[in-house]
Amino acid sequence: MNENLMNKILSLCKRRGFIFQSSEIYGGLSNTWDYGPFGVELKNNVKNAWWKANVYERDDIFGMDAAILMHPKVWQASGHIDNFYDLKSDCKSCKKRFKAADLKDPKRCPECKGELTEARPFNLMFKTHQGPVEDEAGLIYLRPETAQGMFVNFLNILDSKHPKLPFGLAQIGKAFRNEVTPGNFTFRTREFEQMEIEYFVKPGEADKKLEEWIDYRFNWYLNLGIKKENLRKRPHTKDELAHYARACTDIEYNFPFGTSTSLECHGGSFDVAQDASAKDAELAEARSRTIGWSELEGIANRADFDLKQHALVSGKDLQYFDDATKEKLYPYIIEPSGGVDRSVLAFLADAYSEEKVNPVRNRSNKPGSDISNGVKDDIRVVLKLHKDLTPIKVAVLPLLKNRPEIVELAKKIARDLKKCFITVYDDTASIGKLYRRQDEVGTLYCVTVDVQSLEDKQVTVRDRDTMLQDRVGIDNLKKYLWEKLNN
Ligand code: ATP
Repeated sequence: MNENLMNKILSLCKRRGFIFQSSEIYGGLSNTWDYGPFGVELKNNVKNAWWKANVYERDDIFGMDAAILMHPKVWQASGHIDNFYDLKSDCKSCKKRFKAADLKDPKRCPECKGELTEARPFNLMFKTHQGPVEDEAGLIYLRPETAQGMFVNFLNILDSKHPKLPFGLAQIGKAFRNEVTPGNFTFRTREFEQMEIEYFVKPGEADKKLEEWIDYRFNWYLNLGIKKENLRKRPHTKDELAHYARACTDIEYNFPFGTSTSLECHGGSFDVAQDASAKDAELAEARSRTIGWSELEGIANRADFDLKQHALVSGKDLQYFDDATKEKLYPYIIEPSGGVDRSVLAFLADAYSEEKVNPVRNRSNKPGSDISNGVKDDIRVVLKLHKDLTPIKVAVLPLLKNRPEIVELAKKIARDLKKCFITVYDDTASIGKLYRRQDEVGTLYCVTVDVQSLEDKQVTVRDRDTMLQDRVGIDNLKKYLWEKLNN
């Protein structure tokens, strides 16, 4: 993995409509990103795969969707008002703000060498006001994590579902943190999405369940195609544990970031190292921020901290009644907490590949061969995304767009396939170029309609990864693709 690779991924994301900078026509809002047509499909597929593995395929987890805005006392109980802050210093000359932990010299601005203020706590929660008056009484926060929405609904779930321990709640949703050092593309942003599970267990089972969840979540990434060598588990040391956690293990991915793209003075521009106007100090700062192995997901044993805190502040009894022992208890909570955007970035980085191919003018089933009509270079870029994640499953392509009968048949096939699979139709280039375009966005199968199809009612189906081609009867095409996509 290298810096160059990350730049290629960034450029592919923009060029092909995966991810755009937010508000770009106004110069962009730094470190804020919009998902385009392919990006939103990929992101939805990641969320759906997570929901399937954690809600639909299990009997012990219920889904939820809590509001982003919550009662301000939630954040008092959770400890976010007191503990969720970074120490920061401001430069008296250039007015920029820095995270104290990142500063080599706590008195000098790393950019303009101006004098820095003493480090002061800066809460990471975004504030807003509810109602028409902007006063203290209406002060509320945008949630910095989805977890609290599940803790505060614990009683509602007990009363409505009557679950037995162990059981869990699962939620996917937006979270907001006023991060001081956002950056590395979508890796660290101020608005992001989380996929979180709160799994309630008997206290004596917490250690065992924590281990089970670490393996279960680790394997989820592997099963969706992340290469084993790019994924690892990293247990937290005692001094890095959050105030509520007894133990925590991060699942880390080896992100291909050589330099940070996060300098705010660049309005979130893709790569500061490529920017001719960047100052030496900015470049040095950017180069010093490498991320490589970084957190994708954290799996923590939060013990009984959350339920006890909410019971204390709300005055409600949040204990679970154990039928077997006839005793009340505060369950311990195991929390697998992952980021949607970080997962999408890891899946993209892991799937990106460049392959040397042997160009041939006509159909060939020799391994490594591909049709070259209209394509000059012999390197093909392929997003080898897992079939459940890739945005488009099938593309239907007419070999000759000036033959109305071929175009008509291809459009008819595409219309028919759309009912079963995410399918696109494209006739805007030569067949070689159309294949490359589909490879670049990870389309699994290309169905080509040619002159012969008009007579023998067969089409050519090309596999993205092997480039091997099958001749398949049109009547049999849905079944053929269904079997490929569901095995
Ligand atoms: P980090 O140490 O990287 O800031 P964290 O330990 O604060 O992360 P958690 O509070 O455990 O993160 O949040 C759970 C998950 O949410 C993280 O593993 C990550 O995938 C995602 N996440 C957290 N903060 C951000 C952010 N600012 N931008 C994008 N994703 C984030």
